[in-house]
Amino acid sequence: MKILVINAGSSSLKYQLVDMDGEKVLAQGLCERIGIDGHLKHKPSIDGKQKFDADVSLPSHSEAIEAVIEKLTSKEYGVLNSMSEINAVGHRVVHGGEYFNSSVLINDEVLNAIEACTPLAPLHNPANITGIVACKKVMGESVPQIAVFDTAFHQTIPGKAFMYALPYEYYENDKVRRYGFHGTSHRYVSARASDMLGKPLEELKLISCHMGNGSSICAIEGGNSVDTSMGFTPLVGLPMGTRCGQMDAGAIQYLMKKHGYSIDEMLHILNKKSGVLGISGISSDFRDLDEAADKGNERAKLALDMFNYWVAKTVGGYAAAMNGVDAIIFTAGIGENSKSTRADICEYFTYLGCQVDEQANSKRGEEIFISTPDSRVKLIVIPTNEEIVIARDTCDILDKK
Ligand code: ADP
Repeated sequence: MKILVINAGSSSLKYQLVDMDGEKVLAQGLCERIGIDGHLKHKPSIDGKQKFDADVSLPSHSEAIEAVIEKLTSKEYGVLNSMSEINAVGHRVVHGGEYFNSSVLINDEVLNAIEACTPLAPLHNPANITGIVACKKVMGESVPQIAVFDTAFHQTIPGKAFMYALPYEYYENDKVRRYGFHGTSHRYVSARASDMLGKPLEELKLISCHMGNGSSICAIEGGNSVDTSMGFTPLVGLPMGTRCGQMDAGAIQYLMKKHGYSIDEMLHILNKKSGVLGISGISSDFRDLDEAADKGNERAKLALDMFNYWVAKTVGGYAAAMNGVDAIIFTAGIGENSKSTRADICEYFTYLGCQVDEQANSKRGEEIFISTPDSRVKLIVIPTNEEIVIARDTCDILDKK
């Protein structure tokens, strides 16, 4: 079975074609600048087929999907004889609100519910919907489309953790609550951790640290998400590349009044100019910050220290909330690659009986225990793979059809 995995953004579209027989990625790529001018990068994984990297006219997502199908089926760059070899499409959808606690086959009712969640994710859901509609248009109604939600995994979080202490009607009438994001990633790494630990998920208390441009931490008990650091939106929790993380609404009002900012201007600052970029004044990329801190830049060091501190105290909070933890997982760009960030964070965990194996921690981008064999709580690096979860869910739903 061959599954096309689509992650549609407002002006971009990432794709992966996966052969579920052996879970092999046959090709992957990225359409950029959709609706502006257009650029396509396509990389087949089959010998003898060529990469493609050039400007192509992409006035809308439909043309982007057409360009992807054209490349996937072309003699020079392709890995398929025809589009009909694609059995189904799995879409990443950011927000499923309280409608979806698992992946679903998309029909009109589902599409309406995704649409109904748009006010909760005004930047992401419309782009995801555009990707779904474009696939239907180009590939036809007969190819099943499946939605896999970033929020679904967190629907098991109990009320005491997902409620905000606001008047209750804002939850009841307006659905204001913690939803959490990165659910597909937290789900994937927790399942891998269970395999690596040789214990069923039902018996494990895990804390997953997804640390990339956006970062979130998730407490997973018995395979279920029981708390997570992102909230109603992905803005809160840890300080991130450019997002502020936890913030006092009173300080926001103070700054808006003092500088005459509109709410949109203020949110732009909180989303795009804050986090480690805002603190350091240098970059949102941890590689740049590591380099600057090594050269003695105090603000870069402060930004890194703040990030590590927030990870440590969030993990500590979740260990307390679950009354224990068996393993702490690091994943995503920073979690998979930055040995210094991992080492600095783990210094906070000696009270948990964590001991870092320095040699193992010097490795990058592979599944590995970075704790010593006698470490009470295990420390694990697991490269995330959201695409394979989307492809597997798509396959499972097709099998049940
Ligand atoms: P996204 O949230 O966009 O998917 P990623 O998970 O790809 O982000 O993470 C990107 C971030 O990972 C970069 O901004 C950078 O800070 C960090 N990163 C990647 N490689 C390294 C590295 N070798 N050392 C430190 N940080 C790294």
